[in-house]
Amino acid sequence: MAALTDLTLAQMKAGLAAKQFSARELVQEHIEAVEAARVLNAWLVETPEIALSQADAADRALAAGEAGLLAGIPLGIKDLFCTKGVETTASSKILKGFKPTYESTVTEKLFGAGAAMLGKLNLDEFAMGSSNETSAYGPVISPWRANGSEQPLVPGGSSGGSSAAVAARLCAAATGTDTGGSIRQPAAFTGIAGIKPTYGRCSRWGVIAFASSLDQPGVLARDVTDCALVLEAMSGYDPKDSTSLNAPVPHYAGGLGGDLRGKRIGIPKEYRVDGMDADLEALWRKGVDWAKEAGAEIVEVSLPHTREALPTYYIVAPAEASSNLARYDGVRYGLRVAPEGGSLADMYAATRAEGFGAEVKRRIMIGTYVLSAGYYDAYYLKAQKVRALISRDFAQAFEACDLLLTPTAPTGAFGLGAKTADPIAMYLNDVFTVPASLAGLPAMSIPAGLTSDGLPLGLQLIGRPLDEMGVLDAAFALERRAGFAAAPSRWW
Ligand code: GLN
Repeated sequence: MAALTDLTLAQMKAGLAAKQFSARELVQEHIEAVEAARVLNAWLVETPEIALSQADAADRALAAGEAGLLAGIPLGIKDLFCTKGVETTASSKILKGFKPTYESTVTEKLFGAGAAMLGKLNLDEFAMGSSNETSAYGPVISPWRANGSEQPLVPGGSSGGSSAAVAARLCAAATGTDTGGSIRQPAAFTGIAGIKPTYGRCSRWGVIAFASSLDQPGVLARDVTDCALVLEAMSGYDPKDSTSLNAPVPHYAGGLGGDLRGKRIGIPKEYRVDGMDADLEALWRKGVDWAKEAGAEIVEVSLPHTREALPTYYIVAPAEASSNLARYDGVRYGLRVAPEGGSLADMYAATRAEGFGAEVKRRIMIGTYVLSAGYYDAYYLKAQKVRALISRDFAQAFEACDLLLTPTAPTGAFGLGAKTADPIAMYLNDVFTVPASLAGLPAMSIPAGLTSDGLPLGLQLIGRPLDEMGVLDAAFALERRAGFAAAPSRWW
C-alpha cells in the first residue's frame, strides 16, 4: 500500500470507513512525516499528544458509527488561530509564550468534526507578507525546487507554513486566513488548492486580528474535494463574531459535479497586465479552454478599478492593523520590556520596539499616518470610497457572468530573500488577489500547470457572495481537465 501521507483527505476518509487503517495509524504516520521535515520550518509547535488523543477518540467514534465529517483526519492549524492551552504567537515575538485560555470557533468546529491537530503552522508575522519571510521564527522553505536547482524557494504567504505542510504531505489539509491573498497565493506557489470563502462565512472569533474588515479563515488542501470537505466543517454562523453571516452551509463535497453548462465565466480584461509572464498567460488561455470544454460560456468583462485595488488595500489593511495591534502593549499578553526606572509609556515603547518585526512596524506607521487627523480624508476616506467602487465593479460584472477566471499570482514561487529588500515588489504579488478581498467575495486557487522551470502556477475563480458552491464546482471542472499531478520530490 502507498504511504498513508500520500492519500488525499477524501481517500483517508474512505480508508478509515473501510477499516483499512485506524485513525491512530494515520495520525502516527503524519507525526513521523512532520518530524522528518523540520528543515522546512513549517511548524512552530508540534502537538503529537493532542493529535493522538484526538485520533483515539476518532477511532472510538468510527467504531460506534458516530464519526464526524473529519474523524481522524490530521490537520495543521495556522498559528493565527487561538488554540486553548497551546502556544499561539501569530509568528510574532510579542506573543511569545501566549497560551490562549479559549479555542477559536473554527478550530472548535474542526475538532468537533473529529479532526486531529498535528501542530501550529508558521506564517508571516501577524499574517503580513507574501512569502512567509516576516515570521519572527524564521522563514518557511518551500518543498518545491526549480528543475535542476537547489536554491531554496518561498512557499508564499502569509499562510506559508500551511502551504508547505500540505504540499510536502505532512498533513491532509491546513487552515489558513486570507486578508489580501494569504490562502490563494501560497496555494498557487506550492501546487495545491485553497479557498477563501465569502467574508463572514467562517467565524473570525479567536483568530488574531490583522485587518478585521478583510480577514477571513479558509482552507488549503490537496484538491478541490478536500477543500470542500474542510470548508463545510469550519463554516457557519457564529453569534460571537458580529460580522458572521447567518446563512445555511451547503454540503459542498456532495455538490461537486463539474458540469458548467449554463454557466457564464467572465474574463476580466484589466487582469491582462502589461509584461505578463508568458507561461501564466498561456495557462490562463488553457483555463478558458477547459471551462469551455466543461460547457461554460466565456464572456469578456470589465473591472475598471482593478488598478486601484492594490493601493487601496495597502491603505485599508495597515489602517485596521495599526488599530488592532494597539492592544500589544506589554500589559496583557506575551512580551514585556520594562526599562529600569521607566514610565508606563516607556514600557509600551520598549515592548513594541522589541516585540514587533520590521514589516509590522512599517504597517503600523503607514496605518497611523493614513488615519491621522491631517491625512484621514486624503487617504483613508478616499480608500474607503474606492473600495466601494471596486465592489460595484464586481456587482456589475456579475450581471454578465456567474464566475470570474483569472490567474492567482503574477509569477511562480521566487527565491528566498529575492524580494525582502523591496516592500513594493513584495506587495505586487497580491495584485490579482486583493480585489476579491476588498469586495468580500469567495475566491479559490487551483493548481493548473507548471512554469518552464517546473514550478506550480495557479488559476483563480471568484464568485458571487455566498456562492462557494459555484466556485468549488467550477474549480472541480477545471481541476479535472488540468490533471495537475506534480508533487515536490522529496529532498528533506
Ligand atoms: N500579502 C498580503 C499582505 O501582506 C496579504 C496578507 C494576507 O492575506 N494575510 O498584506
